[in-house]
Amino acid sequence: KLNVLIFNHFISFISVLSLFHSVGKSDISLYLKIIKGGLMRRTLFYNVQVWDASREFVEEGMHILVEGDRIKEISDKPIKTTETLRINCKGKTIIPGLIDCHCHVVMSSLDIRELQDIPLTLMTVKASTIMRDMLMRGFTSIRDMAGADWGLAEAVEKNLIVGPKIFFSGRALTQTGGHGDSRQRTHIGLEPCACSNGLNFTSIIADGTSEVRRAARDELRKGATQIKVMASGGVSSPYDPIDNIQYSEEELSAIVQEANSWNTYVAAHSYTSKSTQHAINCGVRTIEHGNLIDRETADLMASKNVYLVPTLITYDALDRKGAQLGLPQTSIEKLQRVKDLGQNAISLCREAGAKVGFGTDLLGTLQSEQSAGLRVQNEVDSARDVLVSATSVNAQILNKTNELGVVAVGAKADLILVNGNPLDEISLLFKPDETLDVIMKDGEIYKNALN
Ligand code: ZN
Ligand code: ZN
Repeated sequence: KLNVLIFNHFISFISVLSLFHSVGKSDISLYLKIIKGGLMRRTLFYNVQVWDASREFVEEGMHILVEGDRIKEISDKPIKTTETLRINCKGKTIIPGLIDCHCHVVMSSLDIRELQDIPLTLMTVKASTIMRDMLMRGFTSIRDMAGADWGLAEAVEKNLIVGPKIFFSGRALTQTGGHGDSRQRTHIGLEPCACSNGLNFTSIIADGTSEVRRAARDELRKGATQIKVMASGGVSSPYDPIDNIQYSEEELSAIVQEANSWNTYVAAHSYTSKSTQHAINCGVRTIEHGNLIDRETADLMASKNVYLVPTLITYDALDRKGAQLGLPQTSIEKLQRVKDLGQNAISLCREAGAKVGFGTDLLGTLQSEQSAGLRVQNEVDSARDVLVSATSVNAQILNKTNELGVVAVGAKADLILVNGNPLDEISLLFKPDETLDVIMKDGEIYKNALN
């Protein structure tokens, strides 16, 4: 769309030019040729190893041509092309750009209450740094699970800031006293203080079917690609027990109905079997965290085609660094209950045949540990399973199968070139600064350590 826009502007520019500066017709056609050639950028990755979830192992000696924002050709024979950036990829592997299905780019502080004092301008600048760093780790798409909005997604789309594509939830829906209700106990007013920019961005308190319908519709109106609900207590909220159930059947079903009517789905923050089964029975499609689920719940997830989006690294990182970074004592205590069970939940889902995605849920300065999320998931999953989760399964969650998370003709050219074979050595992806030679999103190169 942007290209068309630029193109149209260019045409008008040329028309004006020809009127006032007597530019000849031949000049115009030359300009058109140049601008067309410039817009249709091409990159050839030659002699490259390729992997995506459709391939059991890496395929060697391949050639990939990217034209514009798409993969144009994949061949085991050399591809002839002109006016193309050529990248020799001997010994290196192209895999799909990684996808993180649970993050919060506006949460630049570990104590979410600190967000109250952050003006929107500063919040946005901090988010843009967080997003740039994500892309530089090879994450070309993210699903933001509360906080990011259309403005940030649009800024990325228009290349005003550098970052991954954002599939945003807008504000998470929370009941009064729920995981997203960040008021102090002494706070009497219904809404969080109007001055609390950051918090107003991350959640909306809505109770009763008509309020939750309005809240869901409002986030969809503002462009949310899915609706996030708080369906149980959580670690970062000080007052709600982790094992409570949030939202009644009527409320949760109403939210699901609104999302489905908009041709999208609901993602639920949920820890226990009780809250997870409740959410699934109301029609929720993805379970965020899910640390405390049992076998029966994993079976239910498999039978209803519900995805688990584990966020193991956030517990791992909070456990190591939370206290020194100012994580409140109540949250530290809650953390102990869930931190060691996240991997168990993944095992149960794998055994039951429920699909497992990949998420990180890191807050504040811990966001820098995003790549380590692959490491902790690899403690329970094979390297291949982790990579499938972070590419193909996450693309399914985003409803972008065949478009994202694949290396295929016609798919978006969201690709990373790894110096080595990450299937044999997934630890390559834990240090992206050193091992990612090329990072490409929409056919555009954001990092090229080779040319
Ligand atoms: Zn959560
Ligand atoms: Zn979260």
